[in-house]
Amino acid sequence: MTINQTVTIPIPYNEVPYNYHPSSTEKETLKQELTRLSNETPTIPLIIDGKKVTTKKTNPVVMPHRHQHQLATCCHAEDAQITQAINAANKAHLTWSRMHWEDRASIFLRAAELLAGPWRARINAATMLNQSKTAHQADIDAACELIDFWRYNVHYAEHIYKQQPYSAHGDWNRMEYRPLEGFVLAITPFNFTSIAANLATAPALMGNTVLWKPSCAAELSAYYTMELLKEAGLPDGVINFIPGDGKQVADMALRDPSFAGLHFTGSTQVFRALWKQIGNTIDTYKNYPRLVGETGGKDFIVAHRSANEEALLTAIVRGAFEYQGQKCSAVSRIYIPETLWQSLKPRLIEEVHALSMGDITDFTHFGGAVIHKTAWNKHKAAIETAKQASDATIIAGGITDDSVGWFISPTVIETSNPFYETMTQELFGPIVTCFPYADDDFDSILQTIDQTSPYGLTGAVFANDKTAIIKASHTLRYSAGNFYINDKPTGAVVGQQPFGGGRASGTNDKAGSAMNLERWISPRTIKENFTPATSIPYPYMKEC
Ligand code: NAD
Repeated sequence: MTINQTVTIPIPYNEVPYNYHPSSTEKETLKQELTRLSNETPTIPLIIDGKKVTTKKTNPVVMPHRHQHQLATCCHAEDAQITQAINAANKAHLTWSRMHWEDRASIFLRAAELLAGPWRARINAATMLNQSKTAHQADIDAACELIDFWRYNVHYAEHIYKQQPYSAHGDWNRMEYRPLEGFVLAITPFNFTSIAANLATAPALMGNTVLWKPSCAAELSAYYTMELLKEAGLPDGVINFIPGDGKQVADMALRDPSFAGLHFTGSTQVFRALWKQIGNTIDTYKNYPRLVGETGGKDFIVAHRSANEEALLTAIVRGAFEYQGQKCSAVSRIYIPETLWQSLKPRLIEEVHALSMGDITDFTHFGGAVIHKTAWNKHKAAIETAKQASDATIIAGGITDDSVGWFISPTVIETSNPFYETMTQELFGPIVTCFPYADDDFDSILQTIDQTSPYGLTGAVFANDKTAIIKASHTLRYSAGNFYINDKPTGAVVGQQPFGGGRASGTNDKAGSAMNLERWISPRTIKENFTPATSIPYPYMKEC
């Protein structure tokens, strides 16, 4: 990049999802890629300082909907490779952190175009096969949301860098937005290819170097994302890819003095354990590390008696069951006035029974399997408990089958207890619980919703009555970091609804916004004096 210029970056826009119409080219291309990836079993290496490294410790990468089918073998890092990755990140910091920001930005803008074009089918297919997403769910995540993160983060970075202080006459004040002094550890979840990639690339865009520990249940899409970034021009050592055991990686990385930040998305309990671990070794670090974590949720829909029944029904079915309820924003507890529930209940049962879950390469299915055996066991246990409970009834679904894939049928539980366990604890599966409340109890149900769970991620109110909407908005002010009025609480779009929650749901640093990027910088204020003082006494010191 030439030096003498003030750049303006391209205006960002949201990528439009594919429709995958029956005879479309995009559908044909995706099907071919699904077949190709299903017929190979590559070895996924670590990528340290740009070099592919294989290890003896490995993890089988499988399809959740056909768990006997192995898609790849992923190498896992041992202590020696984790140390190498830290060294590589520290070495790359010297050049990457000093590169013109627009040169860094152009890599991610190019990555966005590669993903929108030639890489789209491969990353979507890997997400479908390894994470059991339908074509639509894969495309809105692995393609569209990740493209949006890359386009909009560049736009937000430009906005941050442009913020400069006022200068009085004779001075020039400047703000230099340095990256953190050290490496960022990105530990990422299984459920969104886009979130995983964003956790590694957002700090990198701001000039940081990164260790990326992907989820053991989403290693294929993460690996292809690394390959794409290389093609986009990402220099060696900027993001070091180290699949492995989360605890082992964290234990090594968090004891290093140059650990400068944690970018985490996953469960609340893991984030809290990491925070404690960092607190215990705080004397080790050169800087106070930045801790950014987006964690669990117990997301709700509350309907007022003035709610539109059609909109409510659609929101419940889509919000609870798309991607098998494995979205952090998925609705898992609903509160409906008794009268409305009487007419909605049979229709909800009918709609839920019509949802087919199966092998996602069959495009007629609404959903796939849950991510792994541990998740399946947890959901099965919740269903078995509900079958025995005196204060809960399964009114739809409740079928579990792990013979071919880890399948849980979309399940609706009706409870007479607003604090029943599936109303309070995160399950992260296709199970939603409904509590019908007395029609006149809207005000008190809002209080109950606020106090039922420790989380504060997403929530929605359905009402036509504006007073009810205002009440809900006030009472539930801290119950959700993303609050929806007459819409399902899932499907936040980068650049439109920055995402994140408070309480036990995270540090609320809003992925896909300037607020997140600001966590990965350490500003330096520079004052240049054009007319420095040349005499020590001040005027007041003279008497006449
Ligand atoms: P998880 O906590 O099991 O795993 C997340 C990551 O942490 C993985 O890479 C895993 O290998 C690693 N890990 C696990 N134990 C570890 C340890 N002891 N030390 C260090 N790393 C460790 O979560 P998951 O199953 O991948 O994802 C589901 C969870 O993520 C849900 O709770 C969901 O609500 C949450 N989530 C939240 C958001 C959000 O924006 N708030 C978004 C997506 C997912």
